[in-house]
Amino acid sequence: MVKELAKEMRKKFSELGADVPQKEIEAKLDLLVNQYKVPEEEAKRTVFNQYVRDLNLSKPSSDSPLTKIKDITSDGKWISLKAKVVQLWENEKASISQIGLLGDDTGTIKFVCFTKSDLPPVEEGKSYVFKNVITDSWQGRFSVKLNKSTVIIPSENVEVASNDVTMTGAIVDVQSGSGLVKRCPECNRILVKGACVDHGKQEGEYDLRVKAVIDDGKAAQDIILNQELTYKITGIDVKVAKKMAMDAVDPGVVLDEIKRILLGKYFTVKGPVLGSRYLLVKDMQRAPLMDGNPIIQKVEGI
Ligand SMILES: [Zn+2]
Repeated sequence: MVKELAKEMRKKFSELGADVPQKEIEAKLDLLVNQYKVPEEEAKRTVFNQYVRDLNLSKPSSDSPLTKIKDITSDGKWISLKAKVVQLWENEKASISQIGLLGDDTGTIKFVCFTKSDLPPVEEGKSYVFKNVITDSWQGRFSVKLNKSTVIIPSENVEVASNDVTMTGAIVDVQSGSGLVKRCPECNRILVKGACVDHGKQEGEYDLRVKAVIDDGKAAQDIILNQELTYKITGIDVKVAKKMAMDAVDPGVVLDEIKRILLGKYFTVKGPVLGSRYLLVKDMQRAPLMDGNPIIQKVEGI
């Protein structure tokens, strides 16, 4: 099984212009699949990302084709993008120089730039042609990785499609994984039982977020609130959450409190829907309670 997988990956690397020994890929896969019991798909992705990160992938012979963001539908592809830097996200990881959101007239996509790629920093609100970036995906959401083969050229202004959705409804669920969480210092993913799928056991950095479901009576929509919005809506910040968790000797109390505050309440949320699943909330307001609205009956404990 591992042998077949390694063969397949070697072909993919070769298409990307890198000659990686099959034995080497096999050894890495074998370790993950057979010793650490990592599922094959995950192992494949981990090994692929390792090679991309180690920058063993050499630049394609000519510049990669200019692609629209909506046309990014597979990972491991060399492409070029003409896009505006819509947002730069906060980043405290030494391995990542910049992370944020790029947009063109067809959509938006996350981008990551690694410190060792040694690229000039981009500015929020400015547009560029990004030549030779690599596509990646995680849980069905695509991103692009800038690398040492990437060339960044300032461009005229790129119009960005507004894919913000506005929705008013009741919060009908606050999901586990909300509240006080820890993120991997390497890749920013949420740690599960103190471990990252890519980087293993980590000390982690505290963060606060809410994953919830809002229902407007016609449809239910998954939403994500970052630390700032969680504070705006619940009044709980990381410091308060840590104290609550410590006092109760249980980080679950933060989730309970967030549930108490949000469940059954009406809000208007606005933001882009990422990867067709999560609405990444940029703005959230309390909406007046609509008497007799059937949604409220669905909420447990109200
Ligand atoms: Zn990680």
